Amino acid sequence: MLIHAAFLGGVGLIVGSFLGLVSLRLPRGEDVVFDRSRCGGCGRTLKPWRMIPVLSWALSRGRCSDCGSVIPVRYPLIELGSGLIGVWAGLSSGDFTMALMTGVLGWNLLIIALVDAEHFWLPDQLTLPLFVGGLLAAVLLYPYGLSAAVPSALIPLPPLIGAAVGFGGLWLLARLYRLVRGREGLGGGDPFLLGAGGAWVGWAGLPSVLLWASAAGLSIVLAMLIVRRRVSATDRLPFGVFLSIGLWLTWLYGPLGLA
Ligand SMILES: [Zn+2]
Repeated sequence: MLIHAAFLGGVGLIVGSFLGLVSLRLPRGEDVVFDRSRCGGCGRTLKPWRMIPVLSWALSRGRCSDCGSVIPVRYPLIELGSGLIGVWAGLSSGDFTMALMTGVLGWNLLIIALVDAEHFWLPDQLTLPLFVGGLLAAVLLYPYGLSAAVPSALIPLPPLIGAAVGFGGLWLLARLYRLVRGREGLGGGDPFLLGAGGAWVGWAGLPSVLLWASAAGLSIVLAMLIVRRRVSATDRLPFGVFLSIGLWLTWLYGPLGLA
């Protein structure tokens, strides 16, 4: 497990440096995969030794060595967060496939939460891979089926049911809210996120995801109350961040109350 944690932590640092790029380029509609990394100040492409996660930033004291412009601290923070997710995933299971898929889930959720927090946006380019990853995880982790009732030929079924229930449930809730309150309570991408997450945790995990998400959301509202002493009913909160936290904890620790 320690070896898994060290390995996935290292992978996480590298993944994190890619996620930092995605979080910048995706909202701008720029090419995410094929364009080389550049300095935001002078536009020069980064030399390979300047792309070492965290270390490059620390050694250059957060500045571009060509033009001296400040490299925002968010990049090493994203790399560190992504590395920690890898370590957490590695420690969570003795089975390497399980740990690896847990890391994949965590990194996908990290970029989703990041983009939602900064832009109130849950793009399909991020939720669709989450859905596909859920199907892949089921196939990889249960090659012989879940049980006699769910043999291997039926293994994509539970993720698909989870996705349908997650999407449908939240879509219905959003419709109801709009009917009752006459305004949107949820972003258009939230049902897609819970649907994609349902492919990972199954329909039985969805109530826990919502409970964790509410708990996370409430703590934020409380913190805002303490700091600002006032929260308006129309304050926007990035619900996708809370759903991501809920999905991560439910995947790691199972549905609440049923364990
Ligand atoms: Zn520069």
